Amino acid sequence: MLLDSNLNEIKEGKRITAKGYAVQHKDDTFKPFEFSRHALGESDILIEILYAGICHSDIHSARSEWHKGIYPMVPGHEIAGRVVAVGSKVSKFKVGDYAGVGCMVNSCGECEACKASNEQYCERGMVATYDCKDYCHNDEPTYGGYSNNIVVSEKFAVTVPQDAPLEKVAPLLCAGITTYAPLKFSKVKAGDKVAVAGFGGLGMMALKYAKQMGAEVFIFARNKNKEQDALKLGATKLYDTTDPKVVTERFDLIISTIPTPYDITAYLKLLKLGGEMGIVGLPPSEVDPKIGAQGLIFNAHKKVYGSLIGGMKETQEMLDFSLKHKIYPETEIIAANQINEAYENLTTGKAKFRYVIDMKTLEDN
Ligand code: NDP
Ligand code: ZN
Repeated sequence: MLLDSNLNEIKEGKRITAKGYAVQHKDDTFKPFEFSRHALGESDILIEILYAGICHSDIHSARSEWHKGIYPMVPGHEIAGRVVAVGSKVSKFKVGDYAGVGCMVNSCGECEACKASNEQYCERGMVATYDCKDYCHNDEPTYGGYSNNIVVSEKFAVTVPQDAPLEKVAPLLCAGITTYAPLKFSKVKAGDKVAVAGFGGLGMMALKYAKQMGAEVFIFARNKNKEQDALKLGATKLYDTTDPKVVTERFDLIISTIPTPYDITAYLKLLKLGGEMGIVGLPPSEVDPKIGAQGLIFNAHKKVYGSLIGGMKETQEMLDFSLKHKIYPETEIIAANQINEAYENLTTGKAKFRYVIDMKTLEDN
């Protein structure tokens, strides 16, 4: 087995070999790919990846929709697995523990943001789990979770209890924290009216968390396909957003997870005075929605903010909160050779919520 050879590599202080799925350029399809990761440092852990979620950010990145990607690219930042080796100074994990890794694998550790455990807002920039030059390791490219293992500093891994359903834990590492963080930032409380725009992987988690926090939740989707799912998961109503202007309801908070072009101002009009709109959806750069002075002034005294994942402390808090209240994503398990199909479904409206790759299926290829 590959992991046995990994243990030999660790003994000899060598780089760690890995295999996964990669694209070689922005128009490519995913194919099996072998590569290596940096050697296990004294504060690092080696995780055998058991499940990896597919986030829409993986699609934006693989297709160079935000910036030119670093290829070959192995995406994946919703990682859950088992610790198979620990460095000499590791204190949080022991071999056999479950661990999760999200969108970051390092940061400078010294700036104000890092000191406040807002590593995602690190002044030097966080080291993203993939598609990033790792300044902590000679600028080598990072490779993500569509693979059999990952080496990561223990500081950037969260602890997962042994009885947790790992395939459901994986998507919490991005979809979970990215929606939990703005709900906390906006201090959502019982009785608030919260709208969630975009009802996919992130939107479904936003609905579940907002309900748990006592809010009344409304969904904005671009068709009524998922109306029954929304109602079943506790939403009061699902609106078809083809025309948000017809909506008469007013909200305390709108969380937008929309990954396509849309009219932000049309949503601002739906906020109560003093209401807030947290934007997490990140459409491609070429069609990045704009908001101008008029849009702001004629929607005055409403607040719009962006939110990027969450810090490591908050990610652990989110995970503990999710497990305590049994808030898990709606998932569909797929094999590694179905990634291309999953991408297709996620961009053509055929996907339901979160695809999660069962990494055992890597061995089949
Ligand atoms: P999904 O593809 O799972 O879900 C997106 C949902 O939005 C789909 O249900 C889609 O509907 C719906 N949608 C698309 N366009 C519209 C529209 N105009 N109006 C209403 N609904 C619409 O994506 P994810 O949930 O994984 O990710 C969502 C976005 O969040 C992405 O842009 C991603 O990059 C970003 N993201 C940002 C993070 C951050 O830290 N800020 C972290 C993680 C993700 P349909 O089924 O019809 O296509
Ligand atoms: Zn993500």
